[in-house]
Amino acid sequence: MNLDEFEKNAHEVVKWMANYLKNIESFPVKSQVSPGSIKASLPTLPPTLPHNFNEIMDDLNRVIMPGVTHWQHPMFFAYFPANSSPASVIAEMITATLGLQCMLWETSPSATELEQRMMEWLRDMFGLPQQFTGVIQDTASISTLSALLVARERGSRFEAMKRGMHDSTRMAVYCSSEAHSSVDKAVRVIGIGHENLRKIAVDENFAMRPEDLERQILEDLALGITPIAVVATIGTTGCGAVDPITAIGEICGRHGIWLHVDAAYAGTALILPEMRWSIEGINYVDSLVTNPHKWLPVNFDCSTLFVRDPESLQRTFEIYPEYLKTSRDGQVQDFRNFGIQLGRRFRALKLWMVIRSYGVTGLQNLIRNHIQFANEACQELASQPDFEVLAPCHFALVTFRYHPKDIDDEEGLNQLNRKLLDKINSSGKLYMTHTVLSGRYTLRLSIGQTTTTRDHVRVALEEIMSTARGTRT
Ligand code: PLP
Repeated sequence: MNLDEFEKNAHEVVKWMANYLKNIESFPVKSQVSPGSIKASLPTLPPTLPHNFNEIMDDLNRVIMPGVTHWQHPMFFAYFPANSSPASVIAEMITATLGLQCMLWETSPSATELEQRMMEWLRDMFGLPQQFTGVIQDTASISTLSALLVARERGSRFEAMKRGMHDSTRMAVYCSSEAHSSVDKAVRVIGIGHENLRKIAVDENFAMRPEDLERQILEDLALGITPIAVVATIGTTGCGAVDPITAIGEICGRHGIWLHVDAAYAGTALILPEMRWSIEGINYVDSLVTNPHKWLPVNFDCSTLFVRDPESLQRTFEIYPEYLKTSRDGQVQDFRNFGIQLGRRFRALKLWMVIRSYGVTGLQNLIRNHIQFANEACQELASQPDFEVLAPCHFALVTFRYHPKDIDDEEGLNQLNRKLLDKINSSGKLYMTHTVLSGRYTLRLSIGQTTTTRDHVRVALEEIMSTARGTRT
């Protein structure tokens, strides 16, 4: 494809993109294909000769699109959102066109300096302390892994990375039983052993019990185990629970333990001053991750890690092979020293374009509306005689189940709700996922897709209720 053809084709593709987004509601939200069918429609061998671009686009529509689940559909209520927006898509097109590698200041000064400024903007938009320094990572999993690596190094006085783990004392990490599995993965990767991840019990609102945390820390200390980090969650994946940061922070402060906060989903709500109750205690926090690529209208991937002590982060990751040295070393920030990966995408551009094109107020309105819709949905479900809300709705995630009065046994209810979810999702009209809370199969209505309106939520609730009541007849 030469550049004239590129220009022509790219215009066609932009039309395709706008059409797709205008007509997205005509697609089933969740792809309805069966496993293997897409692969079976693809040739087993790559083409020897170039294919015409129109032919490729035809195949995109014919072969690929049926196997797409439409995450940007306003009736997408599954998992957490992975939002997009026109400004973000345009930024991604420019990023792809520029094709930068943003590992060093010198490999694109604009990328480093825009990232620095965007992290300051976001820090202030979230109401985080001025001492926090931010860096963009790909995902919350990698942000949490990075934070725990720093905690491990701090716990071993920066010896573990030199001498390995065999000389260290046993170390432990703490999180609640509702924490995301990325904490389990990170603990496996940092080499302290998964057995040394302590899952602390939760209270009736699914928040970590600080008294149990301290008891476990004291038991570990008595056994000669070094507690290196606590991961508290603001907005758990299952039900959006909020761990008590102040109480946990006091414990961490007493024992000199790194406090990392996983706010991957709910951190976005911090752009609303009225939601900052959830980070009361932030002064105890050493690091915090939030994912603009979830609830803000910023395309995946874009995870922001904020740390109070960037020197520890840098000391953990910096490495200076000859081929990466530049004449600016020591004068500029090289983000490659702030994380695991060397090569980095130009992710700050989409933050810049989205924040500018919405304005802080526009973003606040978007998030405030989602929270409002969720609270209304929660009240609506709670007012039904045959539905039950299973956890407080702090953000925009509603957790509930269908519970007809004549069914009492938990296994019967679990089966009924499992069947209900299958039926709802195979309708293609909306897409939800589930979790299990205290042994109960729980439906999650995660509101927050960029274009979801109050009407979409109303239609979703009607569909859920009528399907539920029809499931029994
Ligand atoms: N933490 C929480 C609370 C999450 O809900 C999720 C994903 O939904 C993650 C971490 C992992 O996020 P990522 O896919 O960015 O690694």
